[in-house]
Amino acid sequence: MWAALAILLLAALGFQHFRQRRILFAWQRKHLHDLEDLQRRQQQTLTDANAQQQVLFNSMLEGLLLLDRHHRIYLANRAFKNLFRVKAELRGKTIVEALRVPELDALVKRVETDGQVFDYELKLPDLNERWLRVNAAAVFNSAGERDGTILVFHDLTRLKQLERTREEFVANVSHELRTPLSLIKGYVETLLDGARHNPEVAQRFLKIIERNAQRLDLLIQDLLTISALESGRMKLNLQPVDLHSLAEKVLNDLHGKADARGTTLLNLLPAFFAQVDANRLDQVFANLIDNAIKYGRTQGRVTVGGRQTETGMIEVSVTDDGPGIPTEALDRVFERFYRVDKARSRDQGGTGLGLSIVKHIIQSHGGEVWVESELGKGATFYFTLPATKKVPALPEPLSERVP
Ligand code: ADP
Repeated sequence: MWAALAILLLAALGFQHFRQRRILFAWQRKHLHDLEDLQRRQQQTLTDANAQQQVLFNSMLEGLLLLDRHHRIYLANRAFKNLFRVKAELRGKTIVEALRVPELDALVKRVETDGQVFDYELKLPDLNERWLRVNAAAVFNSAGERDGTILVFHDLTRLKQLERTREEFVANVSHELRTPLSLIKGYVETLLDGARHNPEVAQRFLKIIERNAQRLDLLIQDLLTISALESGRMKLNLQPVDLHSLAEKVLNDLHGKADARGTTLLNLLPAFFAQVDANRLDQVFANLIDNAIKYGRTQGRVTVGGRQTETGMIEVSVTDDGPGIPTEALDRVFERFYRVDKARSRDQGGTGLGLSIVKHIIQSHGGEVWVESELGKGATFYFTLPATKKVPALPEPLSERVP
C-alpha cells in the first residue's frame, strides 16, 4: 500500500510539474510573440521616420550633406545632388572621390579644428561659373563625442550674376556720364582762359558744349526709362493702336534726319491693330528707325514692314541696306551699353541703351525682339506683338518718302 501511495504521489507531483511547464511555455510563447510584435512595430516606426526624414531632406531647397566621423558621405539630399550635378550613389564615398572639389574637402578639415564655418563662398570648378554659400558645423553624439559634419549649401549664382551686372552698369553709367562732362568742362575752361575772345573759336567750342550737354540729357532720359521699365514702375496704357499710322508718325518725325543722309523711308506696314501703349511703341519705332538711318548707308533705304504670324501675333520689321551687324554681335546688341563700333555710336549721339529699351518695352507687351543680319547686306530688326481680337478692316496702305 505504501508503494501504491508513493506512486500516486509521484504521479501527482509529475502532473503538477507538467502543468506548470505547460503554463510557463504558454506564457513564454505569448511573451515572445508580444516581443516580436513590439520589435516589428519599432522597425515600422523607424522605417516610417527614415522615409519622412528622406522626404523632408529632399524637399529642402538647400543642399544638405552629412558626413560620418571618417569624413565619408552618410547622406546627400536631392538639392545637393542637383547643385553638384551628380546622379550616382554617394553614400560611403569621400568628398574628393564623389565630387572632385578639393576646396570643399579643405573646408571640412577646417570644421574639424574650428567646430564650424559660416558663409563660406565656394566657386565650383566647372565651365559655367557657379557659386555656392556653405555653412558647416561639427555634429556631436549624446556622449559629447564628435560624430560627423553637417554642411548646408545655398545657390549664390543668380545673386552673383546680379551683383556683377549692377557693378558693370554703375561702371558703364559713370563712364558714359564722365565722357561728355569732361569734354564740357575742358571747353568751358579753354573759353574762360581766353578762347572766348575769338568769336569763331568760341562759336565752335560752344557748339561742342551744346552737343555734349544734349548727349548727357539723352543719356539721363534713357537711364530713367530703363530704370522705370526694370523696376516695373512704368504702367502700360494698353489700347488698340493702328501700327501703320504709328510708324508713319515716327517716319515723319525722323524725316529731317533721313534727308540729311539721303535715306529713303518706306512704310509697308499694313494697318494692323495691336493692344499696346502708343507712347511706348512710339519709342520702339523711333529707336529702331533712328538706328536704321544712322547705321544704314547714306543714300540708302529703310523699310518698315509687317505680317500676321500663324500664331496670331503681329510681326513688325525694320530693314536697312547698310553694312549690317557681325554674327557674334547679333545677340549682344540688346545688352545695355553694348555697341559694335563705340566711336561710331558716340559720333551719332548714341547712348548704347536704345535697343535694350526696345527689348524691355516689347517684352512687357508680351512680344519678342530679335535681329537678322549678314555683314555687308543690311540688318532687319523684328518684333512681335499680340494682335487685338478684332482687326478693323482698312485698305492696305503704302507710302514712300524719297529725300
Ligand atoms: P546706340 O545708342 O549705340 O545706337 P543701341 O542700343 O540703339 O545703342 O544699339 C546698339 C548697337 O547696335 C549700336 O551701337 C550699333 O553698333 C548696333 N546697331 C543697332 N542698329 C543697327 C543697324 N541698323 N545696323 C547696324 N548696327 C546697328
